[in-house]
Amino acid sequence: MTPARCEACDAPLRAGLAPWHRRCPSCGLESSTLTPAIGEGGAAARIDEDARETALQPIRDHNFDLLLRWLLGVLPAAAGAAPPRRLLDVGCAHGWFAAKAAAAGFDVLGIEPDAAIAARAEARGVRVRAGYFPDALEAGESFDAIVFNDVLEHVPGVVDAMRACRDRLGDGGLLVVNAPDRRGPFYRTAALLWRAGVRGPFERMWQKDMPSPHLYYFDDASMAQAAAAAGLRVRATRRLPALALRGLYARIRFDRSLSAPAALLLYAGSLALLPVLRLLPSDISVWFLEPGRSNSHTPSTVDRQATG
Ligand SMILES: [Zn+2]
Repeated sequence: MTPARCEACDAPLRAGLAPWHRRCPSCGLESSTLTPAIGEGGAAARIDEDARETALQPIRDHNFDLLLRWLLGVLPAAAGAAPPRRLLDVGCAHGWFAAKAAAAGFDVLGIEPDAAIAARAEARGVRVRAGYFPDALEAGESFDAIVFNDVLEHVPGVVDAMRACRDRLGDGGLLVVNAPDRRGPFYRTAALLWRAGVRGPFERMWQKDMPSPHLYYFDDASMAQAAAAAGLRVRATRRLPALALRGLYARIRFDRSLSAPAALLLYAGSLALLPVLRLLPSDISVWFLEPGRSNSHTPSTVDRQATG
């Protein structure tokens, strides 16, 4: 059942830390064999949708403003020669980013598999199509930007999905991937704790037993490799701050499996670590990919740390 070879670079995979965890020794792509449980009572009921929306809003608001500014800076002039530029938001969830992109002048279409969440996005004035990428698209539809905000790491067959994106990009178009980075301090700490026998944080980083677990953890090398396999290349890379003070407690509390004392302890620990975390590599990276042959990693355009 486990693919024996890396989807991005075709190297033989190695066993990871957990029985469901795999590592590519060549490009560094990490993957899991965890299975989604969308619509299944047990896992879905663990997350309170309202609490989650409140919890994630402050950090997402901040990050999405940055993301849009970067996109407008990186998007080639060739894109959308006849304005407005068309933007596809895959897994648009509550429509926060889609609404911001529309306000910035993009002609926005969202795709969202969860009907209840799609309804919330529509209430925000976002044009949403129910379903999955790319099946929800019509023949011949193309875009100047296709954005995956915390989505691509949940999509099975990531290289196929990226290839479908390349096929849907117009001239000068960009695929924007905003995803957790395996080099981030949270992920590294969780991996260390697993080795010490504390398994919860690592399982949490992969969203094990949650409705939509993580199937991949990327870094610059594995993303460049996956992009190359899909006929894309890296145009620019940025890093987003993962942790904002506002909304942090709500963010920790949205998982109902944590008791109040445990949540409080985690909150206190995060507060104490905040100044240190700001000095470390960020947990979230944003990759801007364009159609074309692979290029070598270009440090001149990367590693610009966002300031909180
Ligand atoms: Zn690989």
